[in-house]
Amino acid sequence: MTEKATSICPLCGGNALHFAECTDYAVSGEDYSLSRCPDCGLIFTEEPPSAESRQAYSKLELELYRADNPRRLLDRMYYHTRFRNIRHKIRIVEGMTRIRRGHLLNYGAHSGYFSSRMEDRGWTVTSLEEHHEKRVFSLEMFHHRMMDLSEAENLPRASFDAITLWHSIEHQEHPGRLIRLMRDLMKDNGLLFIAVPNTDSLDAAYYGRHWAAWDVPRHLWHFNVKSMMELGRQNGLVLLQHMQMPFDAFYISILSEQFGGSRHYILKGMFKGLKFRHASRRNRSKSSSIVYIFRKQWAPLP
Ligand SMILES: [Zn+2]
Repeated sequence: MTEKATSICPLCGGNALHFAECTDYAVSGEDYSLSRCPDCGLIFTEEPPSAESRQAYSKLELELYRADNPRRLLDRMYYHTRFRNIRHKIRIVEGMTRIRRGHLLNYGAHSGYFSSRMEDRGWTVTSLEEHHEKRVFSLEMFHHRMMDLSEAENLPRASFDAITLWHSIEHQEHPGRLIRLMRDLMKDNGLLFIAVPNTDSLDAAYYGRHWAAWDVPRHLWHFNVKSMMELGRQNGLVLLQHMQMPFDAFYISILSEQFGGSRHYILKGMFKGLKFRHASRRNRSKSSSIVYIFRKQWAPLP
């Protein structure tokens, strides 16, 4: 632990305290400081590098997306759980909106798997993705054209039934500005779905600085239920519900075991992931990742 440094919480203006030193295990091996605000619960990465440097991780992901028959056991697991994860997301979006063929905006669409599945189901899907390689991948793989994030400003206001940010907001430099824009793009009875890792999760407490979902410096913001509610409240949104993302606990636990130097990290991670997932079923606020479902502040309940 280094000496306690204080900085101002960018969400509520409270005095944030030094929380931990975390290592970028996935790419650079460099250490980054995290600060935590005792008032709203937000944890944030201090002095992250430029946006270009933070993109280094995307190339690794794309190699995995392209592999039809990945060789590594961990890659194979990722490959198979991805489809179950997409089915789960579809159930959440269609279940909460009670819509089958609406207008969807998928912000931070990654490789386009979720967007293309929603299109197959009859949704009109607009996808925004910052990485050029992923936009090319989506076009080649699914014939689904994605736009650059900068196009978000030009989209028609109040036109989307559902907006999804799957593990995207933690990468954005200005989350409040983004949420306000998303709110403007939603129909009055539309819903906003935000999935992020949960700093109050059982796996975060167990793995500490080795918790893979810190993912510094790519993740700039680290939320719990309280700080996510505050982010929504400040930007004219009301939290309707929050739900577990059931498959994230496994992947995060396996990676965390690996980062912590465990010899049998796949087996140990699977076992721990199962335990964390089971235990957090009784308390969603302790889930590895959470999907938050927001509506506009003055809109009638759906
Ligand atoms: Zn705060």
